[in-house]
Amino acid sequence: MTLNVKILTIFPEIFPGFLGTSLTGKALDEGIWRLEAVNIRDYAFDKHGSVDDTPCGGGAGMIMRPDVLGSAIEHNYTGGKIIYMSPKGKPLTQAKVHKLSREENLTIICGRFEGIDERVIEEYGVEEISIGDYILTGGEQAAMIMLDAVVRLLPGVLGNAASTENESFEQNLLEYPQYTRPIEWKGRKVPDILMSGHHENIAKWQRQQALQITRTRRPDLLEKGLDFE
Ligand code: SAH
Repeated sequence: MTLNVKILTIFPEIFPGFLGTSLTGKALDEGIWRLEAVNIRDYAFDKHGSVDDTPCGGGAGMIMRPDVLGSAIEHNYTGGKIIYMSPKGKPLTQAKVHKLSREENLTIICGRFEGIDERVIEEYGVEEISIGDYILTGGEQAAMIMLDAVVRLLPGVLGNAASTENESFEQNLLEYPQYTRPIEWKGRKVPDILMSGHHENIAKWQRQQALQITRTRRPDLLEKGLDFE
């Protein structure tokens, strides 16, 4: 199965950007996912390619017009979810990333200026997703971060499927601390237990560490409940 992604943007040249490198880039070359960046300006009604206008009711900035954006959606939509990257959306979580990685088609609207006309969201049943409680200049950056997280979960992208199992957020836990060689560096030693070769004790230690780190840094995750034990 291939994940088909359509991006609606006024800056198509940003794509694939960093998604074209490393694991996500290899997966793109191999056809595990496809990416098409559509220029919303191509659907403008004037020769200047105007996509925005002043906000009704006054206020600062510009708003993306519903008629132009609507036309871009209608000419390019081939099924599946329509997502608008938006600070007002539901915060993206690893659980949501897993859900998105099982979709076949994603159409993603990238806002600019002060955002898009609310009627577009109502008309097309658009789902709003936020990547965090801060404001970016555009949805392109947010879309790329979300896609990076989604694509690495597609079958065949990571060499070892097991490598995601213990990662931060996978069981509502942050990951335990990790070490590699040299065993001693600047007088700091790798914890003895990790060099013991006792797999059961190592796994126990790692679970305890993960719990402790999560308790101190992100108690909110523990309130969601543990998926193991
Ligand atoms: N006036 C808007 C912010 C507009 S920022 C507000 O106050 O809610 C411009 C565009 O950047 C948005 O349309 C959105 O597509 C994108 N964007 C900004 N912050 C984002 C975030 N945290 N998550 C997802 N997209 C974001």
